[in-house]
Amino acid sequence: AKSQGKGRWSFFTEEMHNESVAIKQLSSDLLVACEKRQFIPFFQPVIDAVTGSISCAEVLVRWAHATRGILPPDAFLDTATNIGILKKIDEIVFGYLHEALAYFDATGVDLPRVAVNISAGRLADPSFIHDIKSSHINPERLIVEILESVYLERMGDVVRWALDELDDLGVTVAIDDFGTGHASVQGLLKIRPAILKIDRQFIQPIVKDNNSRALVSSIVGIGKSLGMKIVAEGVETEEHARRVKKIGCDYLQGFYFGKPMCADDLRDKLIATGGK
Ligand code: C2E
Ligand code: CA
Ligand code: CA
Ligand code: CA
Repeated sequence: AKSQGKGRWSFFTEEMHNESVAIKQLSSDLLVACEKRQFIPFFQPVIDAVTGSISCAEVLVRWAHATRGILPPDAFLDTATNIGILKKIDEIVFGYLHEALAYFDATGVDLPRVAVNISAGRLADPSFIHDIKSSHINPERLIVEILESVYLERMGDVVRWALDELDDLGVTVAIDDFGTGHASVQGLLKIRPAILKIDRQFIQPIVKDNNSRALVSSIVGIGKSLGMKIVAEGVETEEHARRVKKIGCDYLQGFYFGKPMCADDLRDKLIATGGK
């Protein structure tokens, strides 16, 4: 580089160089991981507030890395998006998901529904609907979670079309991380999701703070008046659970009820909690 050996500039470029080497390495590792089908679904239980049973499981992708173990989405999804392999990863995860559901069903373990996360780019890609159809997962058993930002930034004809197609197929649409985007209420009216998931940053403070409680309460009120079911995310303690139930959330999700786990562990949990 130009200012060799002295000053911040050369240090900075060296750092950038190292970073781009790391991204290149990660990118090529990700391509290999696709070939080896190393992307697997983890499952986090979603609890019915009234019955206390597991009504659904959210599917959260993990990279089962050969040497580094199980890696969370933060470690790879951005790069995967940039190199255009999200569709491939979804396909791999859907394949394992279909297998897991078939195994649950064949062994008499009852998991009524699964919720999958769909990124903005995928929803705006017409082949997404085709991929859902060819996954052979019963669409009526499927919930698709969409980030608020998706419909606000990309509320074009393709997204509208995709949402209508999902509706026709019998797939349920949920808005994820509600409250973290902008113009939320306007978006709700456009999308009319069946389910609203309130982000944990709103849920967790309600044990200490009256204003947070009032806020969550009014979000629940808006959602319910529009006929939506409400999921409280990030329920980590018994007190969180008690509060969100009292406020009227229909479903509860968080570490208090279970961290994301592999299909076999979910099956054990379903059996232990009486879902037979
Ligand atoms: P998300 O959809 O909001 O998923 C919830 C995240 O919060 C998960 O992190 C979960 O492990 C974590 N979580 C659940 N309960 C609690 C709790 O009580 N306390 C705390 N502190 N955290 C909790 P994870 O699995 O690392 O996923 C992160 C994000 O990655 C997800 O956020 C979702 O936006 C994205 N993601 C995950 N799987 C997929 C996928 O298959 N496709 C796409 N496009 N995105 C995915
Ligand atoms: Ca989600
Ligand atoms: Ca969420
Ligand atoms: Ca989130």
